[in-house]
Amino acid sequence: MARYGFDLFTIGGGSGGVRAARVSASFGARVALAEERYLGGTCVNVGCIPKKLLVYASHYASDFRDARSYGWSVDNSQVDWGALIANKDREIARLNGVYGRLLGDAGVEQIEGRATLVDAHTVAVGDRRFTAENILIATGGWPALPSIPGIERVITSNEAFHLKSLPERVIIVGGGYTAVEFAGIFHGLGVQTTELYRGPLFLRGFDLDVRQVLAEEMRKQGVDLRFEAVVEKIERTDAGLVARLADGGALEADEIMYATGRRPLTRDLGLEEVGVELDARGAIVVDEYSRSSVDHIWAVGDATDRINLTPVAIHEGMCLANTLFNDKPTRPCHDDVPSAVFSQPSIGAVGLTEERARERYAELDVYKSRFRPLKHTLTESDETTFMKLIVDRESDRVVGFHMVGADAGEMTQGVAVAIKCGATKAQFDATIGIHPTSAEEFVTMREPA
Ligand code: NDP
Repeated sequence: MARYGFDLFTIGGGSGGVRAARVSASFGARVALAEERYLGGTCVNVGCIPKKLLVYASHYASDFRDARSYGWSVDNSQVDWGALIANKDREIARLNGVYGRLLGDAGVEQIEGRATLVDAHTVAVGDRRFTAENILIATGGWPALPSIPGIERVITSNEAFHLKSLPERVIIVGGGYTAVEFAGIFHGLGVQTTELYRGPLFLRGFDLDVRQVLAEEMRKQGVDLRFEAVVEKIERTDAGLVARLADGGALEADEIMYATGRRPLTRDLGLEEVGVELDARGAIVVDEYSRSSVDHIWAVGDATDRINLTPVAIHEGMCLANTLFNDKPTRPCHDDVPSAVFSQPSIGAVGLTEERARERYAELDVYKSRFRPLKHTLTESDETTFMKLIVDRESDRVVGFHMVGADAGEMTQGVAVAIKCGATKAQFDATIGIHPTSAEEFVTMREPA
């Protein structure tokens, strides 16, 4: 007779929790998963997926402009926001169903409702109690807002996905992934868009060249990008919303969207009460196997605030299932994680920024290229593509790859394999290019900058 009702009880049905639950069940574990909001978590419902769909939607504006140079007549094009959101919502509902079916097919018991910890082996959902040998916390994160006067008047990305209508003017506050992606979405959909970032240059942590190039490209397109812009309060007037700035300036808009980071969603789960250590931001402190400070309580994904990306959460969930139920203790690897920012143009990056590489390696060779992509030799667009490789001179290994341009995410995924395998610049050079593509530039850069 088993000592506990389940071998694993997962709290949170997002990318990490669902993967850990499904794979654990496939290894023969008896698994339950509780979700209080929506299956698929941030990524499926208010993150990666709907965001990318809106990026596609917004890109048609420039696609239609470019099409004219290719002989097409595209007149009277306009977007129906309501239709777009309805279609997006239909796809999200389909994905919610897919997630539910995947869990069901794997034999995971699904429990709707908010789960809290009672003790290290007991979870409460409403007035039901469940016991489990292991408990996994995969509750994700939530947008964080600074406490300034009038902050209740703003929206976050959560609400941006469900706006009843498109605003005429929007202000986006923040300079991270979410802020630049939504600036591109709103601008592309014809909204007069201002992005405010508190520091000297947005996308802190990305390669400096990439940050500068994206700022230039966004400004060329007409996004009003303002740095060193600190919002002190938000007011409502007859003209709409007003952001009052620390330098005395004021800006008006119909919506103000804050994309000022996310916080782990770990409060009021009973974690501290059972002894699970949280850091100052509320992230669950875990060891290299995703074990919390309490034996048998584990955590993956944004709740741990390691690298907050869906594929990383999935990887952490897979590793945990292997550790717990497949006799293969597996540490998630957080090195050389590629990522893309679906700004317009998009960013792709894997490995070290030049700034980080200089701290780690004595001598570097840096290769850079900025060019007008073939597609735009016929259009009126002045968009350029930027590519950069960072090479450790001693080993000849490519330690960093960065780009700004169309399809950056698609290209970066392939290069990430090479970098993960420790590819050298000589091996890049020995690779034949595919002509004519932008990607061939990566295997034809010969002169260090
Ligand atoms: P980030 O933490 O990446 O960025 C937050 C931004 O808000 C930063 O520019 C930060 O400035 C600024 N900020 C923070 N606090 C304040 C404040 N009080 N006032 C004004 N500005 C402030 O958050 P995001 O929501 O953009 O993204 C969260 C995470 O989600 C990302 O790190 C990424 O891991 C993931 N994500 C991934 C995407 C993708 O893969 N394409 C897309 C979206 C999100 P400063 O730099 O000065 O601190």
